[in-house]
Amino acid sequence: MQYPCITADLRKMAENVALVKKKCADSGIDIIGVTKGFCAHPEIVEAYLKGGVSGLGDARLRNLEKLKSFNVPKYLMRIPMLSEVEDVIRLSNISMNSELETIKALGREALRQGKVHSIILMVELGDVREGVLQEEVVDYVREILNINGVKFLGIGANLSCFGGVIPDEKNMGRLAGLAEQVEQELDINVEIVSGGSTSSFPLVDKKRMPGKINHLRFGEIFISGTYLDAREGAHYDVFKMEAEVIEIKRKPSIPTGEIGLDAFFRKPVFEDRGIRKRALLAIGRQDVDLDQIKPCDKEIEIIGASSDHLIVDVDSCSRNYRVGDIIEFNLNYVSILRLMTSEYVHKVIIRS
Ligand SMILES: *Cc1c(COP(=O)(O)O)cnc(C)c1O
Repeated sequence: MQYPCITADLRKMAENVALVKKKCADSGIDIIGVTKGFCAHPEIVEAYLKGGVSGLGDARLRNLEKLKSFNVPKYLMRIPMLSEVEDVIRLSNISMNSELETIKALGREALRQGKVHSIILMVELGDVREGVLQEEVVDYVREILNINGVKFLGIGANLSCFGGVIPDEKNMGRLAGLAEQVEQELDINVEIVSGGSTSSFPLVDKKRMPGKINHLRFGEIFISGTYLDAREGAHYDVFKMEAEVIEIKRKPSIPTGEIGLDAFFRKPVFEDRGIRKRALLAIGRQDVDLDQIKPCDKEIEIIGASSDHLIVDVDSCSRNYRVGDIIEFNLNYVSILRLMTSEYVHKVIIRS
């Protein structure tokens, strides 16, 4: 093994996906797997497919490029840049959109490549990130229906990510109502009503999701088991981090000398706890944010980090740590994203 590394347990991930799939299928909801949380690592994507997602989505085309060999519908979930339209058509079948100018460009490029590209129109439901205003939805759809090369597939919304707005029966009901309004006023069928991401799952779980919502886009819930119940077989530790001890010494818990700024331009503050046994680990802030990781050994305390070093207090540990030992950490979505993005962190696939 090479360190530092992030491990991904494919069995655990597939089990999370299957658990979510079952609950969503009971409510008539189709699920797609969002791969951006682990940079669309193709081997990890296999666990999504094994668990039963019916499509794959990512915000970045560089990630979708890695998914070329998977023969399922691929979604570009960030509003496309005008400058990437050619690759959007080449690498995805469906994209989320909110700008007619971009949709027209997608249509022209789709005709050029001899393809039909599907459009999900994003609606602003309160989180104030992407999406057209609710009163404009019907007009936008009417325009999209007139654009050659694209097919209007449905409407969608995203909540939580920017404004922190929680999906509830009210805002999901508004999305469902808009889908019905489009169907009535334009006399068409809205195939997909995409009600958001992981944060929308609790409504499904409580059987409170409006019936018209038939599509959800999940990443975090599969990656971290968020909102899932361990008693039903959920896993919160699909991903773990391992780092190696490069120094073990007893040292004063406060620095000696005049205190200026640390490597990250902050003035560090220390509590004097006397001489403590500390371990230095070969991983740092370049790879991970220390607030987002938790040692699996609950007796270890994180003290701080610089770009390349993580310092932990092992004074109260029952295990006698030595140089060369490997220390494991539990992770959340943010730390998984960072670690997967760092080229200095080895990616290890576990097939248990
Ligand atoms: C990232 C993203 C998702 C997935 O979010 P999770 O919280 O990881 O489930 C869904 N939809 C859009 C538009 C996204 O950008």
